[in-house]
Amino acid sequence: MYRIRFHGRGGQGMKTASRILGSALFAEGFEVQDAPRYGAERRGAPIFAYVRADRTPINERGIIRRPDLVVVADDTLIPIPAAGVLAGIDAQTLLLIRSQETADTWRTRLNTAAQILVLPMDGDLMDRAGLPYVGAACAGAAARLLGVVSQAALAQGLNEELAMHDESVRQRNLQTSLAAYQMLEDEAGRVREGPEVDAADYVSPDWVNLPFDHARVAAPVIHAALTSQSVKTGLWRTLRPVIDHARCNRCWWICSSLCPDGAISIADGQPSIDYDHCKGCMVCVAVCPPHAIEAQAERATAGRETPR
Ligand code: SF4
Ligand code: SF4
Repeated sequence: MYRIRFHGRGGQGMKTASRILGSALFAEGFEVQDAPRYGAERRGAPIFAYVRADRTPINERGIIRRPDLVVVADDTLIPIPAAGVLAGIDAQTLLLIRSQETADTWRTRLNTAAQILVLPMDGDLMDRAGLPYVGAACAGAAARLLGVVSQAALAQGLNEELAMHDESVRQRNLQTSLAAYQMLEDEAGRVREGPEVDAADYVSPDWVNLPFDHARVAAPVIHAALTSQSVKTGLWRTLRPVIDHARCNRCWWICSSLCPDGAISIADGQPSIDYDHCKGCMVCVAVCPPHAIEAQAERATAGRETPR
């Protein structure tokens, strides 16, 4: 059985990538499962989607814990533990990272037994702020690495999954997908099918038994409004709102009350943004009357609060 995981950010097309690949494998005669797993609800948040494919009926269920192929659409997710990109990888796993870095750089950084390949990022995709859609490219690359999906089956899968779009969109995505497919020609068939898993091998999770307590003790108590301090939603951000204090006219009730995460606080009439909890929705940019908040690409602004 092939077990494939696609990791990316909401908006990059990972769910579509899994569906294109799943449909292409189905066209090749495989039994297929494909499903996305969303964490949080918004564009930019880490998500993954997975595909299982086998020549016989698939009885395995749930998320893939021991992947044969992991496709990473956004390499900034790799160091984020909550994204789970590296979960369950071993020497059998092939890790395909869409990145501007080389495979050697990633081997050094990750110090993993997994095999690593890089899918080069196009020059015009260097600014990740726009969260470029790369689902078709990732599906094409994965199809080639499996070595069991023809270009015709890939095209069939893509056309089925993008059937609601017009012909020009389908053609553009097909070209992107086939370009990625051909780029990995030398690596065709490099992914090996993982072993079958027997129900007898099932290891139950490390359950934590919670003793029964009275509701006064066991029920959660909320002491304050707004975002949990422990959930660093700033990790999701691909765009950073940056306040130009020279242009800010101190109408603080607007940005601070409309920020859905309560990430804008006010001191002496001056707004400031809590970047640990600002998730980059850009509501504040849209509502600021004098346009004193600018959206900047996260990578270009890390550690800087004033606009360029
Ligand atoms: S809405 Fe804009 S101008 Fe008003 S306080 Fe916020 S940043 Fe300043
Ligand atoms: S982008 Fe603005 S409105 Fe959205 S969470 Fe960040 S500070 Fe709040």
